[in-house]
Amino acid sequence: MIKEVEIKVRPALVNDEKTIRREAIKKSGLPASKVEDVRVLRRSIDARGAKPWFRLRTAVYSEEPFVEEPALLDNFQDVSEHDRVIVVGAGPAGYFAALELIELGLKPIVLDRGKDVRSRRRDLRAIQQFGEVDPHSNYCFGEGGAGTYSDGKLYTRSHKRGSIIKALRLLVEHGANPEILQDAHPHIGSNKLPGVVANIRQTILHFGGEVHFESHVTDFLLSDGSIKGVVVNENQEFKADAVILATGHSARDIYRLLARKAIKIEAKPFALGVRIEHPQSLIDEIQYNQPVREPNLPAASYKLVCQVEERGV
Ligand SMILES: Cc1cc2nc3c(=O)[nH]c(=O)nc-3n(C[C@H](O)[C@H](O)[C@H](O)COP(=O)(O)OP(=O)(O)OC[C@H]3O[C@@H](n4cnc5c(N)ncnc54)[C@H](O)[C@@H]3O)c2cc1C
Repeated sequence: MIKEVEIKVRPALVNDEKTIRREAIKKSGLPASKVEDVRVLRRSIDARGAKPWFRLRTAVYSEEPFVEEPALLDNFQDVSEHDRVIVVGAGPAGYFAALELIELGLKPIVLDRGKDVRSRRRDLRAIQQFGEVDPHSNYCFGEGGAGTYSDGKLYTRSHKRGSIIKALRLLVEHGANPEILQDAHPHIGSNKLPGVVANIRQTILHFGGEVHFESHVTDFLLSDGSIKGVVVNENQEFKADAVILATGHSARDIYRLLARKAIKIEAKPFALGVRIEHPQSLIDEIQYNQPVREPNLPAASYKLVCQVEERGV
């Protein structure tokens, strides 16, 4: 049997497998001699008391072994000769759409106006050092999309759109730290995110998809009211049975193109993010109630909330 129990441990012991095992078995009430494995499912910090704790949701395996789930990529097959679907945009939406297409047995042809994640970095340096902005390769455009050089925070307050566990597992299978599967506030880290993005591209190519950079979609090929493909850089046609537009909210030219072609588009509510900066040491001190953050505690986070028209935002 598998019994789930929650335990709490001090930060100094959060990576100590013996302590976690002992505490979980004790809490489960199962005979220790029958326990074959203990796994941490979820990890969050409780800093409400005088000293912070880690709360760990654990699974205790009694008289049965823990069995690793097969990798999601094991379900993928070669799609090089299969039906083609064009995906416009190599941001998170485009790359995850491409992975989903491969899983469904369709061949994704990804087109992005920007450059690959490594070359794009050089163009960001030109922005920072000389104020020169390449309209196709910048903070918004290029492989990985808008947040590629950010911390890669993965949590959401929206729980209406189903489980995000599949997305997290795919990120782990492409090089993200497996702890993102357990952490209540997971993040990939700015040092790792570009590598994860490049690995996703390798998967798309490995299974027979295509990824084309510096390929700016400038027109749609329409016939009898349905889409037959797209035009790239005003001169090259790509044909396919379906087109997924994953161009993000900065792609004004795409919105103009849709309007010009009289294709129905609909405004949706949007979330506006603001950046507020405080010294990390101040936040750590307030949240953890200690002058210097002890080892194993991550940089503390916080959120600001205010009331607007009787709604908390
Ligand atoms: C600085 C910053 C930090 C962020 N940090 C986080 C974070 O930590 N966590 C988080 O969840 N979100 C974060 N975000 C938000 C997140 O980046 C976006 O929600 C996400 O990138 C949207 O993904 P997308 O694929 O829909 O669009 P985008 O990421 O905008 O990708 C669209 C892609 O389409 C391409 N494209 C556009 N037009 C065309 C065209 N005509 N032809 C071909 N290609 C085209 C672009 O080059 C781009 O690569 C951050 C955003 C920014 C700007």
